Amino acid sequence: MNAPVVIIGTGLAGYNVAREFRKLDSETPLLLITADDGRSYSKPMLSTGFGKNKDADGLSMAEPGAMAEQLKAEIRTHTRISGIDPGHKRLWIGEEAVIYRDLILAWGAETVRVPIEGDAADCVFPINDLEDYARFRAAAAGKRRVLLLGAGLIGCEFANDLTLGGYEVQLVAPCEQVMPTLLHPAAAAAVQAGLESLGARFHLGPVLNRLQRVTDGLEAHLSDGQVIPCDVVVSAIGLRPRVDLAAAAGLQVSRGIMVDRHLKTSHANIYALGDCAEVDGLNLLYVMPLMSCARALAQTLAGNPTAVTYGPMPITVKTPVCPLVVSPPPRGAEGIWTVEGQGADIKVLCRDAAGKLLGYALTGAAVMEKLALNKELPALLA
Ligand SMILES: Cc1cc2nc3c(=O)[nH]c(=O)nc-3n(C[C@H](O)[C@H](O)[C@H](O)COP(=O)(O)OP(=O)(O)OC[C@H]3O[C@@H](n4cnc5c(N)ncnc54)[C@H](O)[C@@H]3O)c2cc1C
Repeated sequence: MNAPVVIIGTGLAGYNVAREFRKLDSETPLLLITADDGRSYSKPMLSTGFGKNKDADGLSMAEPGAMAEQLKAEIRTHTRISGIDPGHKRLWIGEEAVIYRDLILAWGAETVRVPIEGDAADCVFPINDLEDYARFRAAAAGKRRVLLLGAGLIGCEFANDLTLGGYEVQLVAPCEQVMPTLLHPAAAAAVQAGLESLGARFHLGPVLNRLQRVTDGLEAHLSDGQVIPCDVVVSAIGLRPRVDLAAAAGLQVSRGIMVDRHLKTSHANIYALGDCAEVDGLNLLYVMPLMSCARALAQTLAGNPTAVTYGPMPITVKTPVCPLVVSPPPRGAEGIWTVEGQGADIKVLCRDAAGKLLGYALTGAAVMEKLALNKELPALLA
């Protein structure tokens, strides 16, 4: 039998590259391997589940068996890859070797964890996949007070969603503003004010040092001396591309697994896309870039080598209390920022010296201008 195309990961990257490949090639054996339960779901929906009143099963779109049939593929669930042997075109699942024709790494990013003192570290929940989400929902059932760690995009989305779900939310992060790496301070202030209007409380500056059990729940001790009573803690302090197994196999890694425009790693017949991949220097943890990569890579795998291109990729942040769309300027671009508007409706533009638009952040009613502005934005990978 011919060696299969093997895809590691059944997230949006793995399933989409499989789907795109099957449009072009219905015969080559296809094997998907995943450490989780293999259900098809859209990860962005995890931070909308309480507002939409959907539990983990409600967010699942298809069982792995149905996906296997649809993709004419074999799918191995709850199966963790433990090593890659590029010289022999095989990978390891413990002691078992699996050979591949081409190997596609779509194994995502993992949540950053920091050590927390105290006897309640097991009450800290990262939410980075459907199984994490199910565990958190179970822990939060019947509870009232959630402490959120992290004020990035994901922390803010959960703050909005959990307040919609009826929880009292307090948010702790060591930065001065929400979404510090993504957002101009004027737009960040509008989003924070929106979340505060829902009742969310922000503690920007300190970190969580210690979490301990008390008679009626938990006590969170912050580095600035504050003590916050809560029932459960969500950790959204960042994501790091999974690179260890790739590095151990001798593949070049930087922030992510380094790939060229053809999504090819430093080794023949091994490709990467999605959150784990750094494509021509860009590691973007969003759906739009991974969809472009899935389409291009499917062509390459089907014998038609195709380079990926990225157009403008604005990010829609799911904070419905204060809608936000942001398109950060491309790496290295120097621009001049202007801020218009007030209150919830902020328009921040970044232009170069010649007046060309490099990036923007729009909040509230200003979001309506995004389509017109998108036409002016530069491509991220032309
Ligand atoms: C709460 C939340 C909200 C988001 N909202 C948005 C949004 O609104 N818009 C947007 O563009 N992006 C959003 N994102 C980001 C987006 O969801 C991700 O960029 C995307 O889902 C990544 O897909 P992926 O397939 O690369 O990785 P993942 O979905 O993480 O999939 C990784 C897969 O690899 C498997 N795996 C890992 N290690 C191994 C191993 N050793 N062996 C076998 N299998 C392994 C896992 O089990 C899993 O199947 C959000 C992310 C989160 C967490």
